[in-house]
Amino acid sequence: MITLPQLPFAFDALQPIISEKTLRFHYEKHHAGYVNTTNTLIKGTDLENKTLEQIILTAASDTVYTKLFNNAAQSWNHTFYWNSLTPEPQKHQISPEFLAQINKDFGNIEELQNLLIEQGLNQFASGWVWLVLNNGSLQVVTTSNADTPLTKPNLKPLLCVDVWEHAYYLDYQNLRKDYLTGVVKNLLNWEFAANNLEQIT
Ligand code: MN
Repeated sequence: MITLPQLPFAFDALQPIISEKTLRFHYEKHHAGYVNTTNTLIKGTDLENKTLEQIILTAASDTVYTKLFNNAAQSWNHTFYWNSLTPEPQKHQISPEFLAQINKDFGNIEELQNLLIEQGLNQFASGWVWLVLNNGSLQVVTTSNADTPLTKPNLKPLLCVDVWEHAYYLDYQNLRKDYLTGVVKNLLNWEFAANNLEQIT
């Protein structure tokens, strides 16, 4: 069985960028729903005692598992998304080492922020925008629906932003760019990304 991890901040902590109402729905309905469906689907099967990562990799290997893959990957993606956000970005700033790599691969932090916003905006319909490490270089990529970099051996996820409509529609209606700009400029946890990078390199 997999569990729904605790949200790393209070429901109202990300206001005004993300409202308490959006965060409650997103976590208690959407994220919890993916976790519950995953558990229903693995109950009584060989996957019941596997880790979430193992379940995702197995489910990605065969289309008979499509429903399980979607729910398991969404469970993982959402936990990664909550950890990518912080109500106190000043406490989780970019380290000099990480900034040096960002400058090398993107020019400067503003260029990286703009890429996250632009690519998140250009992701057609539902999906995710990610900062990843790809063969030693930082890169911004998007995935569709539940798809996750976890299943792509060359991509190591460092942080992500959810661009499904349920992530922003109550607050911004169709204005995905306003949501993305608010999140990318004000709520990203760069320390989380740097820690993920350190674990790889
Ligand atoms: Mn979501």
